[in-house]
Amino acid sequence: MKMTFLGAANEVTGSMHLVESPQGRLLIDCGMFQGHRRQAEKKNRTFQTAPDTVDAVVLSHAHIDHSGRLPLLHARGFNGNIYATSATRDLCSIMLRDSAHIQQMDAEYINRKRAKNGEEPVDPLYSQLDGTKVLRHIVSVGYGRRFSPVPGVSGRLVDAGHILGAALIRLDFNGVSPPLRFGYAVDLGRPGMPILRDPESLADDGPLDVLVLESTYGGRHHDPPEDMEAELGGLVNRVVERGGKLVIPAFSVGRTQNVLYSLHKLFIEERIPSVPVFVDSPLSVNATDVFKMHPECYDDEAASFVEDGGSVFTHRSMHYVSSLAESKTLQRRRRPAIIISASGMCEAGRILHHLKNTITNERNAVGIVGYMAEHTLGRRLVERHEQIKIFGKMYPVRCEIATMNGFSAHADHDGLLDYADSVAGPDTRIFLVHGEEKATAPLLAALRERGHTNTTVTSSGMTVDL
Ligand SMILES: [Zn+2]
Repeated sequence: MKMTFLGAANEVTGSMHLVESPQGRLLIDCGMFQGHRRQAEKKNRTFQTAPDTVDAVVLSHAHIDHSGRLPLLHARGFNGNIYATSATRDLCSIMLRDSAHIQQMDAEYINRKRAKNGEEPVDPLYSQLDGTKVLRHIVSVGYGRRFSPVPGVSGRLVDAGHILGAALIRLDFNGVSPPLRFGYAVDLGRPGMPILRDPESLADDGPLDVLVLESTYGGRHHDPPEDMEAELGGLVNRVVERGGKLVIPAFSVGRTQNVLYSLHKLFIEERIPSVPVFVDSPLSVNATDVFKMHPECYDDEAASFVEDGGSVFTHRSMHYVSSLAESKTLQRRRRPAIIISASGMCEAGRILHHLKNTITNERNAVGIVGYMAEHTLGRRLVERHEQIKIFGKMYPVRCEIATMNGFSAHADHDGLLDYADSVAGPDTRIFLVHGEEKATAPLLAALRERGHTNTTVTSSGMTVDL
């Protein structure tokens, strides 16, 4: 048996790993590379394995860096089953089509440039139709249910505590001797996250033989999730007292719903005044609808919300904005309000219009609830640049910028170590993926110190015998 790391090895996007056993060729995740447009574009067009030779895919969750190349895999000849939870399937149904739309816009942008240089146009990575067709291949599997992606292999998806529907993957390769117990913890969430249950063990029957572990936040520490509600409440109160607006750039899937849930609780407990909340992003609105459809993924607290006749995301102060006309009206609003909008790193979308109308006034605030990668507008806000360029024009930053990193949906350094301890013994082979070097190096050292001496940092294209 062997495994090849085809993406998210020594980097944080493009999760894709091929496991080959005598019984079949199995792909775990099929994610999109994100980042620098030209580099990502090239990597996304190249599969390092022939799609028509892959027998099945097991999908951990709907985030595009894990699912985004499924339409292309299918368009290039993959014809097998894709195993995922039903919430992941439903989120994919909106996210893959949204991704196709972005691919189309990207191709148009590139083609305008190519036309100027007299070059041939390029096709988008995939079409909306590709994004729809691949959905037929998804086989929904409930948490904890057994499935057999290829003969001789028994699979099980367990709670990841990351986003709705996200799963850690356990695969038992029974067709090889000795049988191999394999676990995949990418992306691993955190205990105590709002709405979702805590990450579950992949090894309730003894240590795994192989563990593939993410390392995004190796060497870093998050604030506890419990603190974020109090921080958010404090921020809302300050802004309302000043008569200002609070703008929160948030990823459409996961972060937006966590913020909404926290606000809902703060409203009910009367810890904040009833200020209107606007969710201004069509994808966020659609994703929130999918969250409403899947109470089977909720933890006890969120489930009791539903039992009491409420919905986690419905409150008289909450308003969902889909149309552009409504969004434009909202941009002109002067009275206190909370506006949650995408994109998460402030690189595109409606958030830019809101920021432009917010940052120049000291009464207002921007709430940062997610990771802001280098060279993004979001990062420049976190770093408090004096002036920020939006749509080609410079704007002075006079408003409050509040960073709340308790909202992270990834395990931090200690969380990763604790999880590894709970599923891996001294003989377990651990492969670190999904992390840049500055994150994997401290995690590797700490794992070895704890007796996990059989730990390897993977690199793209690397093949290991299992
Ligand atoms: Zn994720």
